[in-house]
Amino acid sequence: IVVVGVETSCDDTGVGVLRVRQRSCRAAKKTGVGIEAEVLANVVSSQFEIHREYGGIVPRLAARAHEANLPLVVEQALEQAKLSWKEVDAIAVTTGPGLSPCLWAGIRAAEDYAAQHAVPVVAVNHLEGHALIPRLFEDSPAAFPFLTLIASGGHTLLVHVNGVRDYTLVAQSLDDAIGECFDKVARVMGCDGSVSGHPGKEVERLAAQGNPEAIPFRVPLTRSHNVRSCDFSFSGLKSAVRRYVGQRNAEPLSAAEMADVAAGFQHAALTHLENSTRRALVFSGCRMEPAHLEKVDVSMRRKYNKDVARMPDEPLSARPPRSLVVSGGVASNAALRQRLERLANCFGIPLHVPPPRLCTDNGVMIAWAGAELVAAGPGRTLADLRSHADTLAALPRWPLNTMSSVHAST
Ligand code: ATP
Ligand code: FE
Repeated sequence: IVVVGVETSCDDTGVGVLRVRQRSCRAAKKTGVGIEAEVLANVVSSQFEIHREYGGIVPRLAARAHEANLPLVVEQALEQAKLSWKEVDAIAVTTGPGLSPCLWAGIRAAEDYAAQHAVPVVAVNHLEGHALIPRLFEDSPAAFPFLTLIASGGHTLLVHVNGVRDYTLVAQSLDDAIGECFDKVARVMGCDGSVSGHPGKEVERLAAQGNPEAIPFRVPLTRSHNVRSCDFSFSGLKSAVRRYVGQRNAEPLSAAEMADVAAGFQHAALTHLENSTRRALVFSGCRMEPAHLEKVDVSMRRKYNKDVARMPDEPLSARPPRSLVVSGGVASNAALRQRLERLANCFGIPLHVPPPRLCTDNGVMIAWAGAELVAAGPGRTLADLRSHADTLAALPRWPLNTMSSVHAST
């Protein structure tokens, strides 16, 4: 079955083409994932240049750019996949959350293609795309249940993924998202992302040259009344960086000082992400083996023991997660991957991280989520994709935990 995924929720026009197959019973049991897919094409057209001069995304401009880009991106994707519309079985399209005019641009295009080529359309939640994509990898797909950290430009979430459409929200940001915070810090420091297309990536590059201990920015939400929740907050840290750089405006920061600011900021931000993730793992029933605990450094052991002591009466999920997943644009940050790798190791579970091109917005994750959605219900198979019919409407706000479950788990 060939599925085309269309993603236009924000400022990237993404089209992905997947060939999806049912796994054999044995393979499905072994991996915990019922279907498998081959990525035939993944084309993303960034609007970075269009919005750069405005310092943010202008929804109407973005929607117009999606409309202009989509036919070209679709054509390029089909060319890359070496397929024509005749061979496409279904379209999956992001219908929320996101910017309303942008979502509509994708929906209208999907509807037009569907009518023209007589194929059905599946509506997909963008966050569900980020959450389910780590199940696509052939060698080690993430089996349910897993804990996922979605760290992107608009979201910072910890979500228990119990099954398709069966999500429990564990934590969210009380203010800014982590990616937004990286972007704003980049701007304060004068990097506009023109080198890589992602300002956050430039902060990471600078941070690698600096000393993370030179400027000790405070790690958010470490006061005792906060540590029972796994939530996030980044606006205080962002302001602290802005104040630090602002104070020094009279004599601009040297390149070495800039690197230290980036390193100090990144250290605090990533420690915060790690703290909440560790707590969420503990609160959902994951434990470190005593032998492992002896080997971890003192500060990690102390934090872990405190989390265990603060464990709520009821664990956050009925079954402890079998793996940890990180996705969203910030997951391409190597320092974050390293920390979470170490953390997952301590708990004796694997870490799954999609390759960077599938972490940032793309059409592949939408095609995959669409296939999982349709094929996941009891007694349902991929062939149901050919007859699926969703009514499409943009849902600019569409939290993951408001969706009803399709099935318990595979
Ligand atoms: P959402 O998925 O919440 O709607 P989005 O789709 O705009 O948001 P993504 O495309 O998933 O977000 O991620 C983009 C974000 O990731 C940007 O804020 C960008 O700066 C950040 N980012 C990308 N690479 C890195 C990196 N190496 N380190 C830190 N941040 C990064
Ligand atoms: Fe995204």
